[in-house]
Amino acid sequence: MAIEHIYKTKDGTQAGKLTPIKAIRHKCLDCCCWQINEVRACSVKTCALYLYRMGKTGRVCSKGATDALQKARSMQKTLSNRGGF
Ligand code: SF4
Repeated sequence: MAIEHIYKTKDGTQAGKLTPIKAIRHKCLDCCCWQINEVRACSVKTCALYLYRMGKTGRVCSKGATDALQKARSMQKTLSNRGGF
């Protein structure tokens, strides 16, 4: 489901097709000044893009990431039970 559009790259802008997961990867590279190692080392586990930052689905993620996801889901469930969400 790639969609054609114009997006930012390290050298400016580019027109092309990006799948959602590739678009996330580009955003993470942009966030980290196009430093691949910085994307890998990202410590913002609460970022909505965190599990997808390596250009793969969230199924392929680190143990720390899954722990953060489980905590977030637990917190969401708690808030939901209180009527917060
Ligand atoms: S996951 Fe990390 S690198 Fe990607 S956008 Fe969020 S903070 Fe930036």
